[in-house]
Amino acid sequence: MARDLETQRRSLLESLRSAGIHDERVLAAIEATPRELFVDPHHRQWAYADQALPIGCGQTISQPLIVATMTQALQLSGQERVLEIGTGSGYQAAILARLARFVVTVERYQQLACQAARRLLQLGLSNVAVFVGDGSLGWPDAAPYDRIVVTAAAPQIPQQLVAQLVEGGILVLPVGSHDHQELLVIRRTFSGQEVHSLGGCVFVPLVGKGGWEE
Ligand code: SAM
Repeated sequence: MARDLETQRRSLLESLRSAGIHDERVLAAIEATPRELFVDPHHRQWAYADQALPIGCGQTISQPLIVATMTQALQLSGQERVLEIGTGSGYQAAILARLARFVVTVERYQQLACQAARRLLQLGLSNVAVFVGDGSLGWPDAAPYDRIVVTAAAPQIPQQLVAQLVEGGILVLPVGSHDHQELLVIRRTFSGQEVHSLGGCVFVPLVGKGGWEE
């Protein structure tokens, strides 16, 4: 079983490379992070399939290609303070923890946040702080951030999140309707913000004051 997963992890990495993931630090972080620890034991056999999987509370662990694409778009060098909204399983947070100096991650479901915190501890990733709450307006207590990633879909770019970035900071998030969004990369500039799209995607909704109503 363990060898099977190892083989599957290597083949996932090859498919991520073929799909355009070229940042070697991102690929190494994915290689070092056992996705099987972040999925339900019943789904372990699909841990390295390039697909989203249910994680409870009606939520999902994102598809590996999406995780890799969003992480690559953050352009992390290792020195950044990163805010993630939507901890979910904790998988994306684990990858960010290997690539940045410090990670703050916020989840609205306590059950998911507690489970994620246990997994991160189990992996010895001590540079992550997990909070329970509505992160749709960011997490001002620990702002500013060099990078912000939102792993749930917002109806528009939440300007409170942009305001929590340092100048030159990058926000990556899906924006659009309930069933289709654009994956946007927003850079905060001296005079405002620059926005570009990485293409279409589908995420669970960002629920809260800066997102969709419950
Ligand atoms: N990053 C996660 C992972 O690696 O497993 C995947 C996250 S899942 C696609 C989106 C998560 O965002 C869900 O766990 C959901 O509960 C959470 N979420 C939605 N709205 C939120 C909000 N306002 N604040 C914090 N978390 C929120």
